[in-house]
Amino acid sequence: MIHDFFAAYTPPPATPLLQQNGVRLWLKRLDLSHPQLSGNKWYKLWHNLTAAQAQGHTRLLTFGGAYSNHIVATAKAGELFGFQTIGLIRGEENLPLNPALRRAKQSGMALVYISRGTYRLRHDPEWLASLPERFGAHYLIPEGGSNGLALEGCRHILTSEEYAHFDHVAVSMGTGGTLAGLLLGSTRPNQIMGFSSLKGGGFLRESVREHLADYARIFGREPAVPSWQLHTDYALGGFAKRPPELLRFLQDVEQAYGIALEGVYVGKLLYGLLDMIEAGHFPVGSDVLAVVTGRPLE
Ligand SMILES: *Cc1c(COP(=O)(O)O)cnc(C)c1O
Repeated sequence: MIHDFFAAYTPPPATPLLQQNGVRLWLKRLDLSHPQLSGNKWYKLWHNLTAAQAQGHTRLLTFGGAYSNHIVATAKAGELFGFQTIGLIRGEENLPLNPALRRAKQSGMALVYISRGTYRLRHDPEWLASLPERFGAHYLIPEGGSNGLALEGCRHILTSEEYAHFDHVAVSMGTGGTLAGLLLGSTRPNQIMGFSSLKGGGFLRESVREHLADYARIFGREPAVPSWQLHTDYALGGFAKRPPELLRFLQDVEQAYGIALEGVYVGKLLYGLLDMIEAGHFPVGSDVLAVVTGRPLE
């Protein structure tokens, strides 16, 4: 089922900033891959859906905040591939539903609101083991869709030719699952650059280690991965915050290139990358690939 979802490129624009600094900035457009199931979330779900099917499950259960792209993608995947879906949503119901939850509901997901206190149990094995009693047998997908199987999907975001060609591959980080998957395909030290979308993103190093450990557990081998770069200076006010400089940047990009950037992750990634390019961080002649992991909702 993967081939319907392959993504496109946008070649580097001839902007003075890029030309002056001798950097080519390419975009890997996962946002163009499928009208309803776009972006990195598809790659994360891919092997999980296959596993759910192979294990005879007809129901997916997962977790997310009220603005979670993962919730939207899981709901859509359930609709397209014939699974019932249950989303355990952090916090209380707010009506009218925001665009993310409206979409999830339209795709047939059952939305169940749980208190913030209960939501903190989302990795607790004992609590997770109690869920089938309440919601029926299900295939469990963790928050953000990040587990070992998700990494195996995200490894295929890039081909081996792409890994060989680009000096750097930059990606935004929420749980770090996508970056961990990209690391599986990289062989060059510091090729992969992660940009935290959350304030105080230092914990992401440990998150990536945990995702890789889950991968090792599933596939029975420790993956050898190269070093990578973590950039925590471009959260721009924190997760899902939209300070004026970000809004201005999103408008400028849309006007100049006709690309409506997703603002929670992708806008901050490109804001950070261009800032680093302007500061002369990359040697002249560098080919940098930014992974556009999703599109704006609505
Ligand atoms: C979920 C999401 C991310 C973060 O991916 P992680 O694997 O959780 O780090 C980045 N970009 C977009 C558009 C997303 O929806």
